[in-house]
Order: sequence, then structure tokens, then C-alpha cells
Amino acid sequence: MADHQQIITGFKLWHLALPVNARRDHGIGSVEHTVDIVVLRLTSEGGVSGYGEASPWVVFTGSAEASYAALDRYLRPLVVGRSLSEHAAIMDQAHSAVAHCTEAKAALDTALYDLRARLARLPVWALLGGRCRARIPLSCSIADPDFAKDLILMERLRADGVRIIKLKTGFKGHAFDMMRLERLRADYPEFDIRVDYNQGLHHDVALACVKDVAQFAPTFIEQPVKAHLHDVMARIRDSVEVPLLADESIFGPEDMARLDAIADGVSVKIMKTGGLARAQTVARIAAAKGRSAYGGDMFESGLAHLAGTHMIAATPEITLGCEFYQASYFLNEDILATPFPVEDGHVVVPDAPGLGAEVNEDMLAKYAVRVSE
Ligand SMILES: [Mg+2]
Repeated sequence: MADHQQIITGFKLWHLALPVNARRDHGIGSVEHTVDIVVLRLTSEGGVSGYGEASPWVVFTGSAEASYAALDRYLRPLVVGRSLSEHAAIMDQAHSAVAHCTEAKAALDTALYDLRARLARLPVWALLGGRCRARIPLSCSIADPDFAKDLILMERLRADGVRIIKLKTGFKGHAFDMMRLERLRADYPEFDIRVDYNQGLHHDVALACVKDVAQFAPTFIEQPVKAHLHDVMARIRDSVEVPLLADESIFGPEDMARLDAIADGVSVKIMKTGGLARAQTVARIAAAKGRSAYGGDMFESGLAHLAGTHMIAATPEITLGCEFYQASYFLNEDILATPFPVEDGHVVVPDAPGLGAEVNEDMLAKYAVRVSE
């Protein structure tokens, strides 16, 4: 049988708890000690494997337990015994088989692309329309409640050639946010600074706070208020010169009609869209509306970063860089056998077949809290 028609015979899952090196506070919640992800390995009848990752966050998209159950119980029967040539049909059925659980669907879509691309001896970006860029500017988030620790991180970023940061705001008071912005603008003038509230502002005070922050002229201000407060987002957008970005308010293409009113751009994440091609669709709708697109992420390992990297490499509409920093700056150990490729402040798009790096299964065994096959 031709490689692209091979039958999928293996479907193995790991729920991992990966230790992290710091606490990170965001507007809607904190991450400390570990990050929980789910890794899926699909194997073809010829013995080749492809991997995908679900990286949920309980206060944003969902839980690792829900991702695991979605994959194990509801998506597995749609996949095992099917031909790789049915990728689009499998994903179409996956979106109907279980509501939400977009991270689980992203893991499945990624593993299908990785496996197909490995068999075709092509990088994943070649299956997504070809490559428009070889490097993607990297943004690192500044989110430690202890700002002194973030200033140490800033020195490391500067030495590494990173020139974009996203300041996480709205978790420890407006004065704390203003103090950090003043310090960062003064001491790190070469950095492109963005601001992300992760829904952290109460709608009563949101406009006043955002106006203050806008005086520092960040490149954009992301999701100041709760995801469903579209009218408040629209009011802020109309009142502030700095571009407003929607993240939690927009998951997939179905939500893009509301972008017109609420924001100047969108954070595109495969964990929200439930797949790589759907993420490309979000970016293309944004561009068609004259709006910007940014390569966002969740608390991910290098495996999900790679999926996002290939997607952005094949999506010219995503022009604001990416935030795939966790593998290099947040996890104690990544699950890839080789470091996630970052060079001089840029993610380097891999050219090797599939996602372009091997998963270290010893790491999966080391950090697994649950496994099923
Ligand atoms: Mg965000």
C-alpha cells in the first residue's frame, strides 16, 4: 500500500506532569510546580510514529484529564483502523464527536500531520501550503509575581538576543503593572513590549487602566476583560490608540465575526482552534478583515511549539511573531530529544521530515501520571 494510504494501527497516550522553574501569574490564574499536558503517539502499519500534544489550561481551555478522556474514549475509535488518506474526514468527525476539548483535537491533528509528513519525507509545513518564512521572532512572557526574578530573566533574554516580551498584567494591582512598565521601558529600550491581561481587569476599571498602560505605547494590549464581555472590549478599542488583541474571546473560525467590533487583531493558537489548518483559517479571516494575527500558545512543551512553528511557517498572515518560550525558559526539562530550535531570539523553522525533532520517550515515562494504549 502507498505510504500516504497506510492504516493507523497504534494510538498511545501519556498524561504528563512536567516540572517548571518558576511561578507565573496571569489575569485568570497561576501556574506553579508543574504543567499538565497529554501526548499522543499514532503508529502506522509500517511502524512509523507521529506525535501530537494537547496543552490545556484549566482556567482557559480545559483540563488535561478532559483532553485525555476525549482522546482515549471519543477520538480513538475514529482513528484506529483508518487510512492516513482520510485525515480531513477524521478531523471533521472529531469536531462533531465531542464538544469543546480543542486541545485534544489539536493533538490528533498534529499527530496525523507528523505521521503523514514523516512517511512523505517532508516537513509538516510542506503539507500546510509551503513555507513563507524560515525564522519567527520569539516573544517571552514576563509573569513572575516576584519582579526581581523577572529582571534576572530579562538579562538572560537580552543576552540570548530575544527582543520581544509580553508583560502579563492584571494579577497584582494596577500600580504593580505601571511600575514594571516604567522600569522595563527605561532599562530595556531595545525591546518590543506587548501587554496581556488574560481577562484580569474588572469591567468597572478596565478602560481607565488600559488608558494608563497605553501611555507606554506597547505594540498591543491583549484581552483586558472577560472573554464574553464583547461590548466592553469594543468600548476600550474605540477609546484607545494602542491596538487591542483578542485571545480568550476568540477560539476558532466560528468566532471571527465578532472580531470586527472587539479587537484589532487575534492571538491564533492551535490549542484553541483544535487543529493546524483551522488556525490558518483564523489568521486568514483576520487578514481579510484588515486585522493582525499573532502566534500565541498555551503552557506547552517543545512538541506543541513545533506544531505551532510549522503552522506559522506556512501562514504569511501571522505577522506579529510567536510566544513559544516555555520549552527554553520555563520547563525544567523538555520532552524533545534535541532542544526546541531557538537562535538569536528567533524560532528556527525545521526542515527535517515531520515536525522536525524526535520525542524522547524516556521523558514521557519519567513524567507520566497516566498511560494507555
Ligand atoms: Mg493571551
